[in-house]
Amino acid sequence: MTQNVIWKTSPNRTVGRGGVAVDRIVIHYIVGNLAACDATFLNPDSQVSAHYGIGEGRIHQYVSVHNTAWHSGNFGFNQRSIGIEHSATPERPPTTQTLNMSIARCLTLCRQFNLNPLTAIVPHDSVVPTACPGTVDWEYIRDRTAAQM
Ligand SMILES: [Zn+2]
Repeated sequence: MTQNVIWKTSPNRTVGRGGVAVDRIVIHYIVGNLAACDATFLNPDSQVSAHYGIGEGRIHQYVSVHNTAWHSGNFGFNQRSIGIEHSATPERPPTTQTLNMSIARCLTLCRQFNLNPLTAIVPHDSVVPTACPGTVDWEYIRDRTAAQM
């Protein structure tokens, strides 16, 4: 499945990976829609970003996978990981469409970086204490990606 990725370059990034290999994909929720994600990641004052945001039938890319996005709250973990944001709130889980688009993106990334989805795909709250990824069923994304590898 080919995805139409729309570029929205974020100023909040570090060029390169500091020589660290990518081995994790971190699942996040926006606590809002994709437009809210755009507003935060395109604002240099926010000092946060992720590689991808998914919602409302679209996938936006903010940072190259070869650069470090500022998404996990831990710089060393950011260097080794790809962050994916999902349109959702505490009251509104992501739609089936958003989940399916995320699975397709995870599949592409796991193939590109030669990753095992069962160990590579992790929730944000496994990195630092946070309410993220909230209502995003990250285990469903992990298991459906693994089933399609
Ligand atoms: Zn998060």
